[in-house]
Amino acid sequence: MPDTARINPTVPNDLDSFWMPFTASEMFKDNPRLISKAEGVRYTTVDGHELLDGTGGLWCCNAGHSHPKITKAIQDQAATLDFVHNFNQGHPLAFEAAARVTALAPGFHHVFFTNSGSEAVDTALKIALAYHTARGDGDRRILVGREKAYHGINFGGLSVGGLGLNKGQFGTLYPSTAHMRHTWLPENANSRGLPEHGAELADDLQRICDLHGGQTIAAVIVEPVSGAGGVFPPPVGYLKRLREICDAHGILMIFDEVITGFGRMGTPFAFEAFGVQPDLVTCAKGMTNATVPMGGVLATAAVRDAFRNGPAKMPDLFHGYTYSGHPLASAACIATLDAYRDDQIFENATAMAGPWEDMLHSLTDIAAVMDVRNCGILGAVHLKQDGAVGDAGRAAYNGLWEAGLIVRPVGDALCLSPPLTITQDHVDEIGAKLRAQLAG
Ligand code: PLP
Repeated sequence: MPDTARINPTVPNDLDSFWMPFTASEMFKDNPRLISKAEGVRYTTVDGHELLDGTGGLWCCNAGHSHPKITKAIQDQAATLDFVHNFNQGHPLAFEAAARVTALAPGFHHVFFTNSGSEAVDTALKIALAYHTARGDGDRRILVGREKAYHGINFGGLSVGGLGLNKGQFGTLYPSTAHMRHTWLPENANSRGLPEHGAELADDLQRICDLHGGQTIAAVIVEPVSGAGGVFPPPVGYLKRLREICDAHGILMIFDEVITGFGRMGTPFAFEAFGVQPDLVTCAKGMTNATVPMGGVLATAAVRDAFRNGPAKMPDLFHGYTYSGHPLASAACIATLDAYRDDQIFENATAMAGPWEDMLHSLTDIAAVMDVRNCGILGAVHLKQDGAVGDAGRAAYNGLWEAGLIVRPVGDALCLSPPLTITQDHVDEIGAKLRAQLAG
């Protein structure tokens, strides 16, 4: 029996059966952090320690935790229609959820439901490949991603992803990929919002076209603001330049909005905030406020219509999940979108983006801080390396946990993505806790 279980009876005796995701298991067992309650912007651990949730769950609880209307919708749905699949049959709420989601996304009229962001990414990549096949352009097989990108952990997303540690254990995945450089430049350190330098890095896509032939490239996928790799807002003009190159070569543009979707930039989706129209958008997380797993791929009419020319009695896309459009997820999605609207949560994100930026950049005078990045209600305080990469980030994370603030360390970058319901008091509290930890 681990010592912790003897000290604290609320810690399970068996901490080994659950093979935890992305976890250093032995370190976890030495100090098991177990949370048993969530409300608003706060978590409480099994031993009563209160934490401000600076990461909004894992970039996903945009409306704050345990929103009563979302909770009730899930409870009611579980008691009414627990499950029905959507293969050649269906249930009304999935259609209502689809209409509500697409209504938030100008230019998009269709959504394919998945259960996670990773599934949304792999679905989008498959739709892109199948789109070209449907149009008789099936030689387009190359998928282009970017360094430092996180597109989940399934085969497609990992292939186009740009985080070496995530790929290294698995060898070659989808073979036909190419990667653009990341957009983090030293001259952009401590930029407020979008950095000034680096639009020309989008020309990496043109170089890939020159190398392989633009007519062989199916799609390029980027996070409009890269998140889980360390929060890197796009340089001014970068996304527009990418769009132009896609247009010049008939390449589909996929925005992975698993983090940025549902209000994190103030607009429902980031593509609107940046004025760039992609062909496909992946989303998840904030879609149900993370209460019931759900993701989706938004498609334009032009993409969807390419699939309409096959035999009427056959599926137009040989793809789908048992739980695509699950009744509980659909109910949670509709209630979540109601909450975003009724509580004016995206409006709050817009209003708080300035104070959020000010707070983060007030930390640049601290000697341990190397770079501060922000965009919408997203941010990263990147620490100077101290020891091995990740040591400073881990130490700060541990200290902040004790002080009552959850951050997400990515190497030495402390990433922040609190619920979009934050007030000035919360922002001040986060700022004070960061300063005490980093300057203290
Ligand atoms: N895409 C992006 C941009 C993400 O940030 C994430 C998760 O953080 C994913 C995909 C994967 O989502 P999930 O963990 O729901 O599979």
